[in-house]
Amino acid sequence: MMKVGLTGGIGSGKTTVAQVFSHLGVSVYSSDERAKSIMISDSELMLQIKAAFGSEAYINGSLNRTYIAAKVFSNQSELNKLNAIVHPALKRDFDLWCAQQKGVYIVKEAAILFESKAHMGLDKVILVTAPEELKISRVLNRDSSTRKEVLSRMDKQWSDVEKRVLSDFEIQNDEQHSVLNQVLAIHKSLCLLI
Ligand code: ATP
Repeated sequence: MMKVGLTGGIGSGKTTVAQVFSHLGVSVYSSDERAKSIMISDSELMLQIKAAFGSEAYINGSLNRTYIAAKVFSNQSELNKLNAIVHPALKRDFDLWCAQQKGVYIVKEAAILFESKAHMGLDKVILVTAPEELKISRVLNRDSSTRKEVLSRMDKQWSDVEKRVLSDFEIQNDEQHSVLNQVLAIHKSLCLLI
């Protein structure tokens, strides 16, 4: 079974594209969702987070998101520390999940696939792109972030130019090209590779 990464910058439409693959019957692993889940279910990981950030990191077993966000979003070394703890646990979770899947290929959706080096364990990578202003307006319409906050999050991610070099396929989610046709073409190519 092939492991296919799906990545793209904030607001590019990764989750939207992942849903199209899911409708085709492909199993999709959402790294963001799974990371949130293991942070409140993996006891070893929870102990490591408490050791690194203090017992205030959890309130009655729930992750104290406001506390953690305040620690990591304004401090790159704290963010690196959190990632260094969560990524190995997420990799273990992904490996276990993969072992339970069937099909020609699975899709692993991750915002920071290249930045976290998670692409190294994958067979192919799909990059979702969109013009910068469209990405910003999507995020502003979706959450309560300010334009400044969105730009700051974008700044922390690799550029599309850097990501394109390491990608095998690109989906232009620019609301001009059909996402469905692009996904179908990639699906066909991946199925033919087996
Ligand atoms: P993030 O990294 O911020 O989680 P993402 O890359 O997963 O973002 P999505 O959540 O899929 O992006 O999309 C961002 C917003 O843009 C969502 O509200 C989604 O509904 C909308 N969107 C994505 N693609 C399209 C499209 N082709 N047409 C219209 N709206 C779109």
